[in-house]
Amino acid sequence: MGGVDVVVIGAGMAGVTAARALAGGGARVTVVESSDRVGGRVRTIRDFAAAPVEAGAEFVHGARAATWTDVRQAGLRARPVPYRYSWFRIGGSTRWLPLQLLHPGVWRAFDILRSLHRLDAGDMSAAAFIDRKRYRGRAGELARLTLTAHLPGGVDEVGVGGLVADGVLHLEEGLNHRILDGYDLLPHHVATGLDVEHGFRVASVAWGDDGVEVTAADGRTVGARAGVVTLPHGVLASGAVDFDPVLPAAKRAGIDRIATGAVAKVLLAFEERFWPRRMGQLVCGSGPITLYWPTSFATDGPPVLIAYATGPRAEALSQMGHGAAVEVALADLARHFRGARPERLLTGSRVVDWLTDENACGGYTYLPPGAVGARAQLAAANTGALVWAGSATVWSPVADTVEAAYLSGLRASREASAILTRRPGAARRPAARRGARR
Ligand SMILES: Cc1cc2nc3c(=O)[nH]c(=O)nc-3n(C[C@H](O)[C@H](O)[C@H](O)COP(=O)(O)OP(=O)(O)OC[C@H]3O[C@@H](n4cnc5c(N)ncnc54)[C@H](O)[C@@H]3O)c2cc1C
Repeated sequence: MGGVDVVVIGAGMAGVTAARALAGGGARVTVVESSDRVGGRVRTIRDFAAAPVEAGAEFVHGARAATWTDVRQAGLRARPVPYRYSWFRIGGSTRWLPLQLLHPGVWRAFDILRSLHRLDAGDMSAAAFIDRKRYRGRAGELARLTLTAHLPGGVDEVGVGGLVADGVLHLEEGLNHRILDGYDLLPHHVATGLDVEHGFRVASVAWGDDGVEVTAADGRTVGARAGVVTLPHGVLASGAVDFDPVLPAAKRAGIDRIATGAVAKVLLAFEERFWPRRMGQLVCGSGPITLYWPTSFATDGPPVLIAYATGPRAEALSQMGHGAAVEVALADLARHFRGARPERLLTGSRVVDWLTDENACGGYTYLPPGAVGARAQLAAANTGALVWAGSATVWSPVADTVEAAYLSGLRASREASAILTRRPGAARRPAARRGARR
């Protein structure tokens, strides 16, 4: 293949956003993508139920997310899922959140957000923080959920410094919206008219000041004056892609300090609804599943529940295999909704395990204790004509979201444009030390 101005690695939200911005500025851009689709971890399944079901990202977080402009331009219908319709499983009972909060056992944890922001003892794990604050019993359960329900790491793995730096706690405050037409229509809209080379699994990236050359596992190559890496952090950390020359120490430190964890979804279709009509989500302090979402909340859509597992719970589901994971989720639902017979009402099921997906190598990232600053190391434009995007490179307003990916694509497009402006001319192969690894 001939040389282009910019090669973008990955056609997820970050990649297509960067590519569109660069192409819009007149650059010749090729996106190389290992899978046969656009969207990456935004993936909608349309053959499971009578309405689209999300296998990956589910919500637009917040009313001011940067992605709203494109959601509206694409004409996508969105429906809010207000937090006040949350149900919680705490202390062995499944109840509407306001009723759970009436129990004196949880009151002790009400100061958790203030305490986190005032922490002056340095970074520590969520488990150490809970211990230090002496949150026990129901308060401990609520604290564990507040700190780690959304993250793919356990309480002893997630750092509280990273939680604050990543803005993760804003997820508890903002209003979530579900895209009724399917979230994948957003990256599809952004990718309209782009040159995307599918089935191109990048195996190595040669980079230098004068350009980049990416080589696929099947030997195809694309040369460009600049390159944008949007590979998921899990793929970078797996070592599946070689960089030549080896990446700078600070970049490698960024990759090593960030953690990608397991996330799995069990999609469950039923004959009829057996959960409360006004239940937007069920958050579980204990059990094999972290959260349940009815996809039809506030709509008259089909009775589908998504069982969402994060961190250690997702790892356990991943290991037990699909059939067992479905059985475990059904038994868990029977525990939450006494008298319901979910196994008798089940009409279809599917398991989506992001840990074993070689295009993701995990769900998304979190920062272990001491890792604040690692996202900036990963994002830094310190590799010649190769710049870095992807949702793991962003920490504001909330790290590792679709919005983060989108913002990273915009930033990387500006960095790549600056490289093109500095170095006019034809695509050149980089002067690289062959054989070096990350
Ligand atoms: C189950 C789940 C639920 C989530 N829920 C939400 C949510 O509700 N709201 C939210 O905002 N975010 C959510 N997220 C996070 C969000 O999906 C991601 O942060 C975001 O989509 C990542 O975009 P990206 O472009 O950075 O990476 P990706 O979407 O992963 O794109 C990277 C692309 O690179 C490709 N690729 C991988 N390896 C190679 C290779 N070797 N060569 C070429 N191409 C390669 C991949 O196929 C992929 O298309 C969720 C994620 C998961 C997994």
